[in-house]
Amino acid sequence: MNEQELSQRLTVVGNAVPKGARLADIGSDHAYLPVALMLAGKISYAVCGEVVKGPFHSAQKQVAKSGLNNQIVVRLADGLAAIEAADEIDTITIAGMGGTLIASILEDGKINGQLSGKERLVLQPNVGEQNVRRWLQKEGYEILTESILAENDKIYEVIVAKKTAVKKELSPIEIFFGPHLLAEKNSVFLKKWRQEQQALEKVLGQLQKAKVVPEKKVNEIKQELAWIKEALTC
Ligand code: SAM
Repeated sequence: MNEQELSQRLTVVGNAVPKGARLADIGSDHAYLPVALMLAGKISYAVCGEVVKGPFHSAQKQVAKSGLNNQIVVRLADGLAAIEAADEIDTITIAGMGGTLIASILEDGKINGQLSGKERLVLQPNVGEQNVRRWLQKEGYEILTESILAENDKIYEVIVAKKTAVKKELSPIEIFFGPHLLAEKNSVFLKKWRQEQQALEKVLGQLQKAKVVPEKKVNEIKQELAWIKEALTC
């Protein structure tokens, strides 16, 4: 397999990995990303971390089939526990999971000393992107770039971050939409938020019909809808 065979989603993740990187791909079902990047000559070393045995074996098989056992190590491990100090990892990719899980993997990695704070993080949450941005903000990471893409009727965001000495505070609106995505407002962004608007309006209608209206949730949704309306019209 080569880089061209990756999904568009994983290609965008791979594009954010610097040339010559020592990569840890966490949640590396099939090891597709590290294998494609290694075959393309883009990375120099990789660790694939997988917590579930089935995908772990698939990753092992893929690496062996590609003749990359000397350059890619596959480890059965929970989150960043797959990383050892001697790996000298400088880039971490975590793709295809929920934002809450990605944030908790990073938090555990920080607590357990597996995240040095020097790595470039390339994160692709399937949902709950706000949780990822909130964690990055809390830990003093700068969001360097953000991408948004549509593939197979789904919309994905890719967030690239690095810890910086000067902390740039994001507003709640930037956390919600993504600072770069909001500044750019490309066609996929507009499509995503039109869809979200429809979904939230439906939920709001249902909540307002409830016997006991959950005021806190209703106000939260109203606030989000106001932000979305503004983002879509300005
Ligand atoms: N990263 C690949 C991609 O984007 O196509 C695979 C995504 S797959 C949906 C998510 C993978 O993450 C699963 O194989 C799952 O077992 C693994 N995973 C979930 N939680 C994990 C954790 N805490 N540590 C390591 N792997 C994890």
